[in-house]
Amino acid sequence: MAQFDADREAVLERARAAGVETMLVVGGVDEEAGHHRAMTVAEKFGLPVSAGVHPHEARLATPATYDELRGLAREKRIAAIGEIGLDFHYDHSPRDVQREVFRAQVRLAREVGLPVIIHTREADDETAALLEAEGARETGGVIHCFTGGAELARRALALGFHVSFSGILTFPRAETIQEVARTAPLDRILVETDAPFLAPPPHRGKRNEPAFVLEVARKVAALRGVDVDVVGAASAANFRALFRLTSP
Ligand SMILES: [Zn+2]
Repeated sequence: MAQFDADREAVLERARAAGVETMLVVGGVDEEAGHHRAMTVAEKFGLPVSAGVHPHEARLATPATYDELRGLAREKRIAAIGEIGLDFHYDHSPRDVQREVFRAQVRLAREVGLPVIIHTREADDETAALLEAEGARETGGVIHCFTGGAELARRALALGFHVSFSGILTFPRAETIQEVARTAPLDRILVETDAPFLAPPPHRGKRNEPAFVLEVARKVAALRGVDVDVVGAASAANFRALFRLTSP
């Protein structure tokens, strides 16, 4: 995002200095052709990247959009389809359009054999039901920035999905999310920034950046009563397995 235009290189250096060895650039397909920006950044820095139509922009999807995603997948330029899903909090696109575009992209992910990155907000039940009905067990994937309930976690884990925690995990009143982070199998946990948003303490209110993901890993470790290195090693291994990466 533009918030990093001035110092992207320094941000990535700080991430590496903090011990963040594995990362993925999340792209999109929006009015500003967001996935092209993500891809440019990813290719410049040698990072894996995803592309997909976010539920906010679902109304912009056309058959050409799907052809483009299919092409990117076939050329092995993307490691995942996403963010895709349902957002009934903001409703930036009509819900029936969100459903249709989400469904089409889960089908596309199955067709091209890529995992999915799921964005879901105030749509736990419908998101889980659609993933179950569309055979998402085959693609695998991650519920990104997990803020759902225990039932969404249960259904996602049953599908073989991962759950990913952001700075929200460290916020007060995040008890439900903290319970999922405490009890989910260690081999299904990821940590993320959702940068530039959701900076965890002691950086709260500032621009979030990849180095700060360490605070999320520390919180997961504290909840589970293990060393942060255990969470670091597990989340890195889970990341490589999910996105089928052989190197960092
Ligand atoms: Zn999201």
